[in-house]
Amino acid sequence: TTSVITYYRERRRKELPTTFESRPIELRSDEVVDGVTGLIGNTPLVRIQSLSNALGVDILGKAEFMNPGGSVKDRVALRMIADAEEQGLLHPHTGSRIFEGTVGSTGISIATIARARGYEATIIMPDDVAEEKVKALLALGAQVERVRPASIVDKKQFVNLARERARNFGSDPEDPAHPTHTHRGHLIPTASSSIVVTTTADEALADNALMSPKEEREFAMKPRGFFADQFENRSNYYAHFDGTGPEIWRQTSGWIDAFVSGAGTGGTLAGTGQYLKSKKKDILVALSDPEGSGLYNKVKYGVMFDRKEAEGTKRRHQVDTVVEGIGINRLTHNFELALPIIDEAFRVTDAEAVAMSRYLVHHDGLFLGSSSACNLVACIKLVKKMGWNNGERIVTILCDSGSRHYSKFWNDDYLAKAGIPVDMGIIERLLAEE
Ligand code: PMP
Repeated sequence: TTSVITYYRERRRKELPTTFESRPIELRSDEVVDGVTGLIGNTPLVRIQSLSNALGVDILGKAEFMNPGGSVKDRVALRMIADAEEQGLLHPHTGSRIFEGTVGSTGISIATIARARGYEATIIMPDDVAEEKVKALLALGAQVERVRPASIVDKKQFVNLARERARNFGSDPEDPAHPTHTHRGHLIPTASSSIVVTTTADEALADNALMSPKEEREFAMKPRGFFADQFENRSNYYAHFDGTGPEIWRQTSGWIDAFVSGAGTGGTLAGTGQYLKSKKKDILVALSDPEGSGLYNKVKYGVMFDRKEAEGTKRRHQVDTVVEGIGINRLTHNFELALPIIDEAFRVTDAEAVAMSRYLVHHDGLFLGSSSACNLVACIKLVKKMGWNNGERIVTILCDSGSRHYSKFWNDDYLAKAGIPVDMGIIERLLAEE
């Protein structure tokens, strides 16, 4: 019951620091790594030759698309799961299930790592995300639930639903996510009616009970529902503070003038940006924000968007743009951690992001996803704003590859219907600006 869990968590909390110590990911061995999680992180920095040459500024992209789950989110999924294990919230091979509300990449990463570590996964997403993400999730054995896009205040919004599903995990034997229905063969049988799982440590801590060591061991082996909660979970931030940030610092030997990133949860921007600033105060941190996102306004004017704008366009949690994964219209905990360190913010239109993706294939043979393209447009805007042309160095994130985006961002018919031009000239004109 809740009170048992509370006690259990409280004990764990006493044993563990409430914030996680900096634990840089160890250098990957050149030859053999331990399983799929050993492939996560330590991605190379790739110099974008076309843009670097045209601008006279070193533009380096962190090749996150090389992670085994195909995106930067592998780092976050791994850290959220590892931290939950460390806190005693998840135990492998107990039929436990990880729930997440996500537009795709995080789901694929969670599904991948869940398989590798002995968990089930339920991913809840809006029904308008690119179809290939759903296919990947199903191939990875995740349960997928697609819901109509809704505002964050709506109970049926995908993040809220994921929280709710985790909370109710195990209470309904008819539920396909119930532990007795899992297709993994080595479940430990349990009295599932006694499984009640609260979703946040704070909720759990509101209650109190006592458990003998034996009860505690038995409890540990029961299937749990765990709400990963990437938007609010600090493990997301630490994945970047301890991983992405130190890697970039090491790879550049500290020679870096700016870091540019978009924000979906804000974890990348906050964790990487804060680490880099902790090393060198004057590294400029810039947000790249797609059309329709409220983050640019939040950074520039302190408000997400003005009410008139919100009412006029019926804004919802998910931003209306062809760019997937970045841009958001509400303030998340992980983005709040980023706010104090953002020095600059740039708006990027759908047309600019599309143009950049085509430009990079044409000139560099780099086939990238929409948020990577958005970040690189922001890099040009930053260079122009700063008047740089003397070998300064900007690092940005290449979050995922184009192969995650065939049905929308890389589909010219789709773009034509959406009224978004495909015109590389947009990038040439941006580069030529004085
Ligand atoms: N790019 C892609 C493709 C993503 O899926 C995400 C995460 N939603 C991001 C960028 C943004 O990363 P973060 O959540 O750390 O802000």
